[in-house]
Amino acid sequence: MVQETLLKDAFGRSFEYLRLSITEVCNFRCTYCLPDGYQKQKGPGFLSVEEAVRLARGFVALGTWKIRLTGGEPSVRRDFIEFIEAMRAIPGVRRLATTTNGYRLEKNAKAWRDAGLDAINVSVDSFRPEVFHKVTGHDRLREVEAGIEACLDEGYDAVKINAVLLKGVNDQDLSLFQDYVRNRPVSVRFIELMRTGDNAEYFDRYHVSADILAQNLEQEGWVRKTRAAGAGPAIEYVHSDYAGAIGLIAPYSKDFCKTCNRLRVSALGKLHLCLFTEFGMDLRPFLQADEQLEELKVFLCKALQTKAQSHYLDEGVTGGNHRFADIGG
Ligand code: SAM
Ligand code: SF4
Repeated sequence: MVQETLLKDAFGRSFEYLRLSITEVCNFRCTYCLPDGYQKQKGPGFLSVEEAVRLARGFVALGTWKIRLTGGEPSVRRDFIEFIEAMRAIPGVRRLATTTNGYRLEKNAKAWRDAGLDAINVSVDSFRPEVFHKVTGHDRLREVEAGIEACLDEGYDAVKINAVLLKGVNDQDLSLFQDYVRNRPVSVRFIELMRTGDNAEYFDRYHVSADILAQNLEQEGWVRKTRAAGAGPAIEYVHSDYAGAIGLIAPYSKDFCKTCNRLRVSALGKLHLCLFTEFGMDLRPFLQADEQLEELKVFLCKALQTKAQSHYLDEGVTGGNHRFADIGG
């Protein structure tokens, strides 16, 4: 029997989806995320597998059933496969996903699938090799594409591509993404560039609304899918001539927060009630022994009551939120 979630906020939203970052480290240098690459920080280490399991058990006991392992780049952790196995072993985890830049995907797609990963999001901002190279700092588009093919061969339940929409970089490339999903059951997600505490200038230069893509898709016969109950804020389009789908994630649109269904925990064990909050709440003190499960659950339920109704970005609030490599995007 599926448990009803106890993770409900004061505005009636349910949070059945946990995005768990397991590292801030990344080997790519995406211009919108880590333009100078990852710089080693002093301080406590990232969550261990044991801490992550205790954390996930707390969330699952309150009704969470979907967990995404993210980062930084989650696959840079040598024990990444142990995270997958450990999360898979928790009764109640019905969907286990990861988000990756794909650089180790071709080699690992099978091992990760065998370890229990159900779904994968791979970041591909462009299908033009030179643009991919410019954005990520790595000339690896072909390897990443081979990794996606490997995931399709391995029969993952869902294979998605994340592309951050960047003015003058990939906003004219819709047809290349459409070509890609014509015969592949892959869902592309165009994500509007989000402003963080340290990319204001970049944001002003490259941010572009996803509205124009929506118009183009509709003109070309793509149909907006009805939102399934419990689905997140992505708007998805399908077309009878295409095996795949195209989705839009537009955080600056009005009402985006109404469908929020996710909570985030950083690699340092901080609970972020919203991607745009400046401070996280430290959960690590509750993750040191299995016996702390009840304490953790009480803390989570109380914390959720302080979640704001909206990030108010559409009203011009920007906040000093973290770059995504720190809390997982
Ligand atoms: N390293 C992995 C990857 O890139 O797929 C996982 C972590 S990354 C922070 C998660 C997602 O956040 C990626 O799809 C990335 O493109 C997206 N992202 C990072 N910074 C962003 C920003 N400022 N605005 C919108 N999306 C962003
Ligand atoms: Fe690394 Fe992902 Fe950030 Fe790119 S978006 S720098 S791959 S963490």
